[in-house]
Amino acid sequence: MNGNVAIDVRGLHKSFGETEVLRSVDLTVYSGEVVVIMGPSGSGKTTLIRCMNLLDEPDAGSVTVHGRTLSYPARGSGRSRRRLIRDIRVRTAMVFQHLNLFPHMTVLQNVIEGPISVRRLPRPYAVEMGERLLAHVGLGDKRDEYPARLSGGQRQRVAIARALAMEPEVILLDEPTSALDPELGAEVLQTMRSLAACGMTMVVITHEIPFAREVADRVAFMDAGYILEEQRPSVFFGAPATARARSFLHLMT
Ligand code: ADP
Repeated sequence: MNGNVAIDVRGLHKSFGETEVLRSVDLTVYSGEVVVIMGPSGSGKTTLIRCMNLLDEPDAGSVTVHGRTLSYPARGSGRSRRRLIRDIRVRTAMVFQHLNLFPHMTVLQNVIEGPISVRRLPRPYAVEMGERLLAHVGLGDKRDEYPARLSGGQRQRVAIARALAMEPEVILLDEPTSALDPELGAEVLQTMRSLAACGMTMVVITHEIPFAREVADRVAFMDAGYILEEQRPSVFFGAPATARARSFLHLMT
């Protein structure tokens, strides 16, 4: 951690209809940090990271990425806001639980599509970077395969390479292993460990306690739209501050 703020959210509120999903959430993630978000189903974890990437726009609060702040409710001209939204989206790459890859594109095409169409990189440069990233996630030999011919774990690793290809400020991962068998999930966790070791800033929603213990710098525990506590993993898993976290961890283990 070098003290630079990668992403900062302040006072986020988000409702879907009558349901208040985020109720004043603050979270700061520093460059090089791994923050794990845990909490019961429906507590707002996915909505929080979707707001960090502006895939969902908050009703109130602010999102700052790489020093650029967008505040809600909306102010400012439509045009400069749209530019800011686009900028924040490009700098916060998302890896989802499912449906990460374009089925009609090869592995390499999936990885280089964003850099070419969004970042306007020259194709040869994008191909070189794509090959390097695929090698990094252990899939250098799969560049010309189609996603349907890969295992779930391999697909998730391609999705991670695709996220990295945008050279984001932070990667947001939403339960990247929960749809996988433990063995395939382990490959993905290993890839995430190696990214953390390279200093990649990550926000990860996961229920994988051993991974969180080992890799997270901090665990943010959410319940009912609030972050109830933020702790180092040794503290969170050893002696959580809130009764809610204690009962959650009791159910998980
Ligand atoms: P978690 O990731 O902790 O399981 P979510 O952020 O996915 O929680 O969801 C929190 C609550 O918001 C749930 O009650 C869910 O049904 C609701 N919700 C999430 N997305 C939408 C949506 N697009 N429309 C309506 N309700 C939603």
